[in-house]
Amino acid sequence: MNYVFIVRYGEIFIKGKNKRLFENRLVGNIRKALHKRGLKYSLRQTRGRIYLEGESLDIVDVLKNTPGIVSVSAGKKCAKTIEDMGKTALELFSLLDKKPESFKVETKRSDKTFPMTSIEISQSVAAYVLQNGIDTPVDIKNPHTVIGIEVQKDWAYVFCITERGIGGLPVGVSGKVVTMLSGGIDSPVAAFLMQKRGCEVFPVYFHGFPFTSDMVKRKIEKLTEKLTAFQPEIKLSIVNFTPVLKELKKKSPDKLIIILMRRFMVRVAERLAEKYGCKAIVTGDNLGQVASQTLDNLQCITDASENLILRPLLGYDKQEIISLAKRIDTYEISIEPYEDCCSLFVPKFPEIYGKIEEVREAEKAFDIEDLVNKSIELTSILTIGGRNGE
Ligand code: ATP
Ligand code: MG
Repeated sequence: MNYVFIVRYGEIFIKGKNKRLFENRLVGNIRKALHKRGLKYSLRQTRGRIYLEGESLDIVDVLKNTPGIVSVSAGKKCAKTIEDMGKTALELFSLLDKKPESFKVETKRSDKTFPMTSIEISQSVAAYVLQNGIDTPVDIKNPHTVIGIEVQKDWAYVFCITERGIGGLPVGVSGKVVTMLSGGIDSPVAAFLMQKRGCEVFPVYFHGFPFTSDMVKRKIEKLTEKLTAFQPEIKLSIVNFTPVLKELKKKSPDKLIIILMRRFMVRVAERLAEKYGCKAIVTGDNLGQVASQTLDNLQCITDASENLILRPLLGYDKQEIISLAKRIDTYEISIEPYEDCCSLFVPKFPEIYGKIEEVREAEKAFDIEDLVNKSIELTSILTIGGRNGE
C-alpha cells in the first residue's frame, strides 16, 4: 500500500440522517467504482472525510469522476517527524508532471499532543524541503502547489496532488430515472447531469433495424460504457422499435410522424420506469435546436405520459453541451456518423406547432396498447460495466 488519498465531499447543507445516507452511498459507490477497475485499496471514514490507501495513482481518476466528491488529494503517509514529512514531500514533488513555480506547506494537526504547532510544522517542513534539493520559492499568498500535511494519531499524511472532483450528489441518493439515449451529442450529457445530481440512470435506446443499422447499437453501448465512469454498473434497455416504425410509416400523417414516434417512445419508457422503480423519464431535448423541439411539440410529447419528464439540457447552448460531452468523453463517439431513425423519418415539412387534439386524433389509427406491449416484449437488456465489463 503505497499512496494515501483523501476524499472531500460537499453539499454541506446535508445534515442528520440524510448526511449518513449520503456518506454511506458515496462509500458504496467508491467501492464499486474501484472494484470495477480492479484497483486494490483500503478505506476508512472519519468525520466528514474518507481516506483510502492503495498502490496506484489511478485511484485519483476513479475518485474525481465519482459524483458527490468535491476534491481528491493524493500523497503518502509517514512517521511523525519533520525529517520524514520533509522526505515524503520531496518524493511527492518528483511525481508532479511539472515542476511547480512556487509552493506552500499547510498543516492540520489533529493530534494535539504533537509537540509543535501547525505553523511550526509547516515552517520546518518547508525549510527541510528547501535545504534538501528544492529551489522552488515559497509563496504563502498565491502558491502554485500546496503541500498538505495532516498530523494524525498514528501517522502524518503528506499530500501534494489535488484534483477537483465533479461535485454533485452520490449516484442513488436522488432515486432512479429512465434516460432516453440516442446516438447524438445531447442525450448522454443529459444522462450525466442526472447522475451528477444523484440519480441512478437506466438508459433506453429505441432501435429501428433495418431503418437504422446495428452499428448504432454498438455506438449506444459505447456511450453507456462512458457513463459507467460515474455509475459503475448500468442496465441498458434496447427496444426493438421496428414494429412501431413500420406502423408509423404506414399510418401516420407525414408532418406528425416525429411527434407520434416520440409519444410511443415515452410510453415504452414509462413501462420501463415502472419496471425499475424510476421516478422520471429524462431526454436530451434542447429548446429550439431542431424543428421538433418547440414548446408546443414538447407539450405534445409530454401529453403521452403521466410520468415526470425531465429535460435537463433545455436551457443549454449547443457549445455548452459540446464542452460537457468532451468533459465526459462521449463527444468523439457521438459524432461518429450514423443514421438516427428519427432523422430517416423526418418529413420535408414537419409540424412545428403540434396541437394535442390533432395528435390524439391521428393516434386513433393505432393499436397503441398492442404496439407498446410488443415493444416491451422485444426489449433486450444489457448490463454494462461491473468488474472489468463483466
Ligand atoms: P441527441 O443529440 O440526444 O440525439 P437531438 O438534439 O438530436 O438529441 P432529437 O433527435 O430530436 O434531438 O431527440 C430528442 C431526444 O429524444 C434525445 O435527446 C433523446 O433523449 C430522445 N431520443 C431520440 N431518438 C431516440 C432513440 N432512438 N432512442 C432513445 N431516445 C431517443
Ligand atoms: Mg438525435
